[in-house]
Amino acid sequence: MPNSSDTFKTGEIVLFDGDYECLLCRQMDKTTVRTLQKGRIFPSCEACGTKDGTYRLTGRPARK
Ligand SMILES: [Zn+2]
Repeated sequence: MPNSSDTFKTGEIVLFDGDYECLLCRQMDKTTVRTLQKGRIFPSCEACGTKDGTYRLTGRPARK
């Protein structure tokens, strides 16, 4: 799994409002994007069923 400042794990706190893509789904040629607000906790991904997901910020942060 990539480990840059653009990726976040399930259980971490969301730092920016934005759209986050599940990288596990991406590996399976699916696109699962969740919109999360600052202060929330990154959830597990229902689409791929992982409890230890990795998300990548897509689009622009601080979008309302
Ligand atoms: Zn997923």
